[in-house]
Amino acid sequence: MRFFNTLGRTLQEFTPIQPGKVRMYTCGPTVYNYAHIGNFRAYLFEDLLRRTLEYFGNQVTQVMNLTDVDDKTIRDSKAAGLKLQDFTRKYKDAFFEDLKTLRIEPAEHYPEATTHIPEMQRMIDILFKKGIAYQSEDGSVYFSIDKFPEYGKLARIDREQQRAGVRINSDEYEKDSVADFALWKAWSETDGDVKWPSPWGDGRPGWHLECSAMSMKYLGKTFDIHTGGVDNMFPHHEDEIAQSEAANGCKFVNYWLHCEHLTVDNKKMSKSLGNFYTLRDLLAKGYTGAEVRWALIGTHYRSKLNFSFGLLDQARNTLRKFSDFFGRLRELPAGSAGKEAAAELAAKADQAFSEGIGNDLGIAEALAAVFTLERNVNSALSKQEFQREAGEIILEQFRKFNRVLGALDVDAAEAAEEIPEEILKLAEARTAARKARDFAKADELRNQMKAAGWIIEDKPGGFSIKKA
Ligand code: AMP
Ligand code: ZN
Repeated sequence: MRFFNTLGRTLQEFTPIQPGKVRMYTCGPTVYNYAHIGNFRAYLFEDLLRRTLEYFGNQVTQVMNLTDVDDKTIRDSKAAGLKLQDFTRKYKDAFFEDLKTLRIEPAEHYPEATTHIPEMQRMIDILFKKGIAYQSEDGSVYFSIDKFPEYGKLARIDREQQRAGVRINSDEYEKDSVADFALWKAWSETDGDVKWPSPWGDGRPGWHLECSAMSMKYLGKTFDIHTGGVDNMFPHHEDEIAQSEAANGCKFVNYWLHCEHLTVDNKKMSKSLGNFYTLRDLLAKGYTGAEVRWALIGTHYRSKLNFSFGLLDQARNTLRKFSDFFGRLRELPAGSAGKEAAAELAAKADQAFSEGIGNDLGIAEALAAVFTLERNVNSALSKQEFQREAGEIILEQFRKFNRVLGALDVDAAEAAEEIPEEILKLAEARTAARKARDFAKADELRNQMKAAGWIIEDKPGGFSIKKA
């Protein structure tokens, strides 16, 4: 496998510290609202990375933090008149639900900032003892970028731009205001009852410190991969490197991977611009998690992706085409005709797929292998060259692809899971009507299903449902 490492801006062969075991940290959501699909583009890229590492035989330990205290969570919990924990709980739950809908594999650890305050304080203490942290007149504790000569190596900020001794208290700031950043923020009126005691007075941790302290706790002082969206590169990841390497005296992370933005009319999809959709907005419009997943993973992670509904419709068509294709393969007549040809096609596709996805998650090449296999098999099917055993070889290959892609419903059970509860109820009512020989009612129920976009077909001993 090769990845483009932001640290150094080159394509590099990937070698984990411990062979076969990968430790990876991904910056998680700030739980003050529902995540939007721009955020999910980042989480889906990280899922694709995780699944690819696993596909190549690695065991992955992934940590994703939940930022449940910062300027925004405090501001909005106050506006909602809720205690911070009660306010963030709702969005944590929603986030986990959304991950499931998008078929994102769960991380091994989801540490919350508010339950790791002692770990963060220990880190500040070390930085203090080393003379790298200092307390200002306002009571907040800052990291002195002057004491870390390598500051700027990730985002490539030269020393001239750095204004040591000038302080910035907010978590997010632009490159042109690079300065000493807050490790511990002294309590102020606007924080209400959100505060923790510390040797430097009541207050709360800075956002950047959270990821340094929690990654160290779960992954050690040096680990393999750290990811996020490109906007995380500065200041967040630059500050994480400074804190961790200054405190621990060793390299923090070997490979940094950043994904480009999901845009709308070429502007970053973001809450502040108001040009966003949540996953829930799209589900309400009738799209499925698998469709959104397919639409968002289909463009290489280092290219911008412009969101449109056309993109989702295209994903829908493609996935439906695949579902029909898998259905045809499952229903082939018994026999072994075409087995060898199928194995040959599958092996060729497998190799092309692995080469593509293993080369910095080359999704275009990987998908080309998938589409080529489908096309070749369809042509064999139209000539009736394949029987069930050949079909099973092909299905098995698609199950393997799907360990990375995660959006295909290769097996009937997976396809059935996508059928909404209400549609299933209509189908069962229709079966009951037919049993009672009330065919008018059965027809009416069939039409109702069709109007909702589902087609029911009778099969010996039951029925099957597919999308219209
Ligand atoms: P936040 O909750 O703002 O810290 O963002 C969570 C994750 O989503 C981070 O990794 C961001 O870099 C990423 N992100 C935010 N907006 C976008 C976007 N429009 N496209 C891709 N990733 C994004
Ligand atoms: Zn982070």
